[in-house]
Amino acid sequence: MKIAVLTSGGDSAGMNAVVRAVVKAGILRGCETWVVREGYEGLVRGNTEALSEQSTDNPSVNLPEAASPADGASVNLIHNLRFGDGELLKDGTGDYLGTRSLKGRYIVRVGFDDVRGWFAEGGTLIGTARSKTFRTVEGRMQAAENMIREGIDALVVCGGDGSLTGADVFRAEWPKLVEALHAEGRITAEKAQMHAHLKIVGLVGSIDNDMSMTDLTIGAPTALVRICEAIDNINSTASSHSRAFVLEVMGRHCGWLALLAGVSGGADFVFIPERPPTSESWENEMCDCIQKHREVGKRKTIVIVAEGAIDRDLKPIKADYVKDVLAERLGLDTRVTTLGHTQRGGRPCAYDRVLPTLQGIEAVEALLEATPHSPSYMIGIQENKITRIPLMEAVAMTRAVSSAIEAKDFDKAMSYRDPEFKE
Ligand code: ADP
Repeated sequence: MKIAVLTSGGDSAGMNAVVRAVVKAGILRGCETWVVREGYEGLVRGNTEALSEQSTDNPSVNLPEAASPADGASVNLIHNLRFGDGELLKDGTGDYLGTRSLKGRYIVRVGFDDVRGWFAEGGTLIGTARSKTFRTVEGRMQAAENMIREGIDALVVCGGDGSLTGADVFRAEWPKLVEALHAEGRITAEKAQMHAHLKIVGLVGSIDNDMSMTDLTIGAPTALVRICEAIDNINSTASSHSRAFVLEVMGRHCGWLALLAGVSGGADFVFIPERPPTSESWENEMCDCIQKHREVGKRKTIVIVAEGAIDRDLKPIKADYVKDVLAERLGLDTRVTTLGHTQRGGRPCAYDRVLPTLQGIEAVEALLEATPHSPSYMIGIQENKITRIPLMEAVAMTRAVSSAIEAKDFDKAMSYRDPEFKE
């Protein structure tokens, strides 16, 4: 089997660990492994440039037990992924730093050594992008042609619900795409037969932890660590000046980051989309609560507002407005801190190395066991066990959360996130 792995949608810590795990597990199970740069866009663009003379399409050391003839190879690949984008770069002494040109090459064969140490790298080294072209049939047809040209018959996609939907669409449509490619003379009959089916597995890379039917998404634990560190920093200055801080945290329509940050950082009040404040006036509810905390001697106030926080009428709750309420009603010296993209970045915490490693291995096993009739799976984790869930069931359940919130059925929204949820 020839497996390609790509990262798509918003980046998250742990995506490199996914690539590493899929490549290493794939090779150990006798597969050939590839990375696709820039998400689905890379599949569509494919490889337009022939390999340059200095380049070699041989991945560095495709056998784990073999001694590496060029131990720097993986370092060079990282360097080229980050800075080279194709041109061979010279260092001060005139030696080539990179030996594998990536110019015009989006589907790159990789070996065991290429992904060494990737678990500790932030973001996604192979790049991620949002691809408009992949949303069109022509784009997906081009993607299929490029994959077939490289002989790839299995794909691991790491991304959010959008990316996983794209994966499902691609797989469902694949036989028709192959037929059309053959009819247009773009692939031979032999290739069309060899590539009659596509195997796909999804892994959820999202800092928001917004996917249903899995307890944690890859990148969410690191984002939580980043927020927690920020709250620790703010706590000391808030306490020194007896100030209030309103923190806006990411999460799109999911309150997981905000809620857990509130618990781990000792917040006074938290606004999340799934549980809007219950009282007629959330302003009064929040001020009463914070007033009580102040009365028992608390010198600092931390309020966390999730990106998608809303009131009972679905009106967004914004950090600036919360700040005005605290300043005007309680007379608190209040500041707003928007953590922004610091929440996304940096080194993955330990759990965002462990989870993608276990799930990456499972993804390879699921591909090896896939049949033309089995559903595409999403690899999840439930009650500390790595699981396989039909991908579109999880995506549908995730979409149902947003619909339930829009219908103001907040209990239903929670039950779609967590079937064990009880009021
Ligand atoms: P996320 O995966 O983080 O939710 P997006 O929703 O932006 O991010 O999806 C990432 C990419 O997945 C899109 O740019 C597009 O290329 C692809 N994609 C998403 N939905 C579909 C779809 N219904 N059909 C085909 N491709 C899709």
